[in-house]
Amino acid sequence: MSDNLLVKNARPMGGAAVDVLVTAGTIQRLAPSIAAPEGCPVIDGQNAILLPAFVDGHIHLDKTFWGLPWRPHEAGPTVPERIENERRLRRELKLRPDVQVERLARYAIGRGTLHIRNHTDIDTEIGLGNFEGVMAARDRLKGALSIQVVAFPQSGIVTRPGTSELLERAVKDGADLIGGIDPAGLDRDPKGHLDVVFGIAGRHGVGVDIHLHDPGALGALQLRLVAERTRALGLGGKVSVSHAFCLGMVDEVELGQLLDLLLENGIAIMTHGPGDRPVPPLARLHAAGVRVFSGSDAIRDAWTPFGNADMLERAMLLAWRNGFRTDELLHLTLDTVTRGGAAVLGLEGYGLDVGCSASFVIVPGETLAELVVARPTRAWVVSRGRVVAKDGECIL
Ligand SMILES: [Zn+2]
Repeated sequence: MSDNLLVKNARPMGGAAVDVLVTAGTIQRLAPSIAAPEGCPVIDGQNAILLPAFVDGHIHLDKTFWGLPWRPHEAGPTVPERIENERRLRRELKLRPDVQVERLARYAIGRGTLHIRNHTDIDTEIGLGNFEGVMAARDRLKGALSIQVVAFPQSGIVTRPGTSELLERAVKDGADLIGGIDPAGLDRDPKGHLDVVFGIAGRHGVGVDIHLHDPGALGALQLRLVAERTRALGLGGKVSVSHAFCLGMVDEVELGQLLDLLLENGIAIMTHGPGDRPVPPLARLHAAGVRVFSGSDAIRDAWTPFGNADMLERAMLLAWRNGFRTDELLHLTLDTVTRGGAAVLGLEGYGLDVGCSASFVIVPGETLAELVVARPTRAWVVSRGRVVAKDGECIL
């Protein structure tokens, strides 16, 4: 079997057409015309656009109902109601987390996503069952997909005694990051919640990624607490806050202060462009130099009937939700679901330059902005030099 792959006639980031020679999983050469080495498989790029693989920086693979019969949404509108509804459904449905993870991950691969950060449910009822399922599926898919695992206390920490021990066990057993959720709004004890999260991060040297749905001043206060602890532990560059709806709710003066604080402490923001909440103003964050990334969040589970693991569609939703129309701003959304995610996840060798890992997607279209608007079927997806999807279908 050849160690090479040649892509003919594709346009990196929508620029001029080139051929791309891949050797041993790495981009070796880009040039207007490259002859195929002996026995080398060849992909005809058909003048389509070549992008680095998409990065889904916030997803919940282990709780999806993907592949199961349609289930009408039943949860109430608040976070606690949704948590309780999910706990009830989990008891009824008895999903196999590893099976669900793999189903949805394969679908994501077909859409050109090759890097994922999964917030993995851990609580006193399911223990480490979902975590073990994610780790097993991660191992099965490792030839194609990289998954960062967040130990995520979906049901709270302080209000669920026993959870902190489980979170620490998951980190000892290989979780890459420690998660958290609404230290004030859900756990009613921001100090106690953050003591556990940052305590585990400090003891084990892992990153932090906290869900923060709490609105307005309550959310802003917690961003400040997260920044204080990040600074105290020297965790700059390893801390993310997911959602941070409060950044879309505070006034201009406070927004400026909070963005300075995020920048100074190397804290990244994940936004997925929800339809019914204020969102962090993406262009403003970018202009301030704050690192921003995106993700699918919940997909067809107890939290929402929506979602399809398509990060090109996610770029469109970010644009839609932020009121973007110009090419420049549409490019920003595409950058957020590719390079932005890669930077926050710390992916090595990411990109389309010589020497980068050959993990890319080929998408038919005229310009980058048009891709965001039209979300065409992905013609080819290549992971470290290996074709893993064709015409939108994972072929692993
Ligand atoms: Zn989430």
